[in-house]
Amino acid sequence: MDALKSRIRSVPDFPKPGILFYDITTLLRDAEGFKAAIDAIASPYAGQGIALVVGIESRGFILGAAVADRLGVGFCPIRKPGKLPAKTIKESFNLEYGSDAIEIHADAVDPGQKVLIVDDVLATGGTARAAARLVKSLGGDLRGLAFLIELEALNGRKQLEGERVYSVLKY
Ligand code: AMP
Repeated sequence: MDALKSRIRSVPDFPKPGILFYDITTLLRDAEGFKAAIDAIASPYAGQGIALVVGIESRGFILGAAVADRLGVGFCPIRKPGKLPAKTIKESFNLEYGSDAIEIHADAVDPGQKVLIVDDVLATGGTARAAARLVKSLGGDLRGLAFLIELEALNGRKQLEGERVYSVLKY
C-alpha cells in the first residue's frame, strides 16, 4: 500500500483554497503502480458474479474500465449532464467543492444485473451516493462501491450506509 501511496501526488489548494487534491496521474503513468492499483481494486470482486462495472466521470473511467477488463465484464460510464447521447436519468448531489449532477443511460443496466461502482476518491460521498441511486433506480443489484482512495475525515461512508464500501488507501 505504501508503494501506491508513494506514487500519488497531493496538491494543496486545488481546485480551490483549502482542498488537498489527490492526483493519481503520477500513479497511472507508472506501469507497476497502475497494475498494482487495478489489482487492489479488482481482487476482492473476482469470482463474485459482478456483471458490470460502472465508472464515475472522469477518473472513475480510467480505473473502472481497467477493473472491468480485469474482471472480464462490461463497463458503463456515469457522466456529467448533457454528455450522454441517448435517453438518460439524472441525480443531483453536493460535492466537497460545489454541487453537481450526474447521468446514466436509461438502458445501461439490466434489471437484477450485479453492478460494481468504481471511482478514484471517496470524499464527502455525495457523488457515490448519487451513482448508487442511479444504478438502483435502473433495477441494478449494487454489489459494492470500490475506491482507490478514501478521505476518512470527510465521512463519505455515512452517505453510503447500507452499501458495501471498499477502499484501497485511507487518508
Ligand atoms: P465526493 O462527492 O465529495 O465524495 O467527491 C468525490 C469526487 O470528487 C470524486 O469523483 C473525486 O474524483 C473528486 N474529489 C473530491 N475530493 C477530492 C480530492 N481531495 N482529491 C481528488 N479528487 C477529489
